[in-house]
Amino acid sequence: MIKYLSLKTEKRVTFTDITNQVSAIVSEYGIDEGICLVYSPHTTCGITINENADPDVRHDMIKELSHVVPFDDGYLHMEGNSAAHIKASLIGSSVTVPISQGTLLLGTWQGIYFCDFDGPRTRHITVQILS
Ligand code: ZN
Repeated sequence: MIKYLSLKTEKRVTFTDITNQVSAIVSEYGIDEGICLVYSPHTTCGITINENADPDVRHDMIKELSHVVPFDDGYLHMEGNSAAHIKASLIGSSVTVPISQGTLLLGTWQGIYFCDFDGPRTRHITVQILS
C-alpha cells in the first residue's frame, strides 16, 4: 500500500506539518495494527518528527540548522546547494510510526514534518503502510 503526497513549498527552507495528510492516508486504509513509513525521495529534503504545538520550535530548529550548516561555506558542489544536501542527511529521509487501533501512535505533542532545504519547489512524499 503506497500513496503519494504532493506539496508546494514557499521559501528556501520550510518545515511543513504533514501529520494530518499522513493520518488521512492511514484512516483511508482502515487497518488496525501496522507500520507507516513516510519517505522523501529528494536529496535536499528530510522528514522528521518533533513538537507541533509551539511554532517557535520549528523556527528554532530551522535557525539552528542554518547556524550549524551555513548556506555559504566554501562548498565545492557546483549546483550551489550543498547546505541543503547536508541538512537533508542530518535530518534523514524517512520516519516510521507505529499504527495501533487504526491511528498513528504519535505522542501528544508530536507532528510529522516535511523539511525542504532547497525550496521553493513542488515536492513529493511517499507514504507506505504495512499491516
Ligand atoms: Zn545539489
